Amino acid sequence: MTVGIIGAGLTGLTLGSLIADCEIVEKNSKCGGLCRSLEEDGFTFDWSGSHIIFSKDKRVLTVMLEKLGDNIVKRRRNTKILYKGNYVKYPFENGLSDLPLQDNFECLTGFVEALINNNKSRPGNFKEWLYSTFGKGMAEKYLIPYNEKIWKYDTSEMSTVWVDGRVPKPPVEDIIKSSLGIATEGYTHQLNFYYPKEGGINAFIRSLEHESWDKIIRNFDVKSIDRKNDRWIVSNGIERRSYDKLIATQPIFDVVRSIKDVPAEIYKALDELKYNSLITVMLGLDVEHLNDFSWLYIPDGDCLAHRVAFPSNYSKGVAPEGKSAVLAEITYNRGDPIDRLTDDEIITRTVEELHKKKIIDKDTVCFTRAKRTRYAYVISDLNYERNIEVIKRFLSRRGIHLVGRFAEFKYLNMDACVRSAMDCAKVMNDE
Ligand SMILES: Cc1cc2nc3c(=O)[nH]c(=O)nc-3n(C[C@H](O)[C@H](O)[C@H](O)COP(=O)(O)OP(=O)(O)OC[C@H]3O[C@@H](n4cnc5c(N)ncnc54)[C@H](O)[C@@H]3O)c2cc1C
Repeated sequence: MTVGIIGAGLTGLTLGSLIADCEIVEKNSKCGGLCRSLEEDGFTFDWSGSHIIFSKDKRVLTVMLEKLGDNIVKRRRNTKILYKGNYVKYPFENGLSDLPLQDNFECLTGFVEALINNNKSRPGNFKEWLYSTFGKGMAEKYLIPYNEKIWKYDTSEMSTVWVDGRVPKPPVEDIIKSSLGIATEGYTHQLNFYYPKEGGINAFIRSLEHESWDKIIRNFDVKSIDRKNDRWIVSNGIERRSYDKLIATQPIFDVVRSIKDVPAEIYKALDELKYNSLITVMLGLDVEHLNDFSWLYIPDGDCLAHRVAFPSNYSKGVAPEGKSAVLAEITYNRGDPIDRLTDDEIITRTVEELHKKKIIDKDTVCFTRAKRTRYAYVISDLNYERNIEVIKRFLSRRGIHLVGRFAEFKYLNMDACVRSAMDCAKVMNDE
């Protein structure tokens, strides 16, 4: 029995390491998908955005760390929000005492009012959820501007399905402590994280790739998926491969478009799915030690980047001696004003903006690159659940297994992709 796996990103490669009789077809010459890293001039950048390894799922975390062996460092998160020129501890609700006093007061009052009003009505969208969970102060000062900047989507048009377990509700005691300046930590599952010493996040991919080396067919861009005589026929337009079972890890859009005789209602649901894209600006600086931050969140509208990461603070191995690496992340929608800027324009603007905000000194920049990633974040709009359900039911009836971030079309981090791959491999191996 041969299992065909489409895509050699983290999910496809994890599946490959767990299913003995399988073959992986990958459209690019290199594996890794969103977990690829650019290595140039002694710098290593995670080119689809800064990646760290963490998980609440201990078994998955162990599996992930084992793949890296001793090529790993453990770090404690030191992350801030740049708010009105102040570095506020992250998450925002744990850093209220870093705010100007009046802002701190308004956040605390808003939180208390939200507690008093709670249970009066269920939030119907993400914006309402932010107001009812955090109160007016925190919602309006940071949470709504930041979320609308990263999602590039109106928060009142977003559902709350993705929030569960991802944005924790703050304990009352923590908010009071945070406002008074007594140290508390939020998002504790991510407080300590891991990162490869050398090779960026792609080191994880390399290890998986070696386990499945002979099973991978590179430069095979799947254009059509057919079912003939109880077999799956997968073709790139030139060559055909045939399998007993099929797992798709490529974006769900590509899966549906590879199939014949798709009903109009499926295309309609597909066209309504929302996602955003990302441009990463990779900067090398001629500075040995820039700061102690892991990354910064920037809610202000006067700067393209919503997040700036400092990978040299994860591992010194990502930059040549005496230099540091900085990675700015900018989301956009296809065809919007950001998308229309050239890479050079985006680099120049980002360098100027980060200089103005005193995050970097523009005169120290010695390396610049930009990289666009079409599928970055799944957006759960108000019709998300209905649309994804219709498409998944259709593909499941056809017998195609969807596994991975853009195949399942869900906000999955690496650990959730590994978990999904492990669960799917178990089903394949048991059948
Ligand atoms: C900005 C950003 C930051 C992130 N940070 C973190 C983090 O800190 N920690 C964390 O745990 N996770 C993080 N993630 C999530 C993580 O990147 C993903 O969960 C994971 O990489 C998804 O892997 P995948 O294999 O499912 O998908 P992908 O990486 O998209 O892989 C799909 C593969 O399929 C291939 N493919 C596509 N179409 C075809 C075709 N037609 N034929 C053949 N092959 C095809 C692609 O080339 C690719 O190799 C982040 C994601 C983003 C966007």
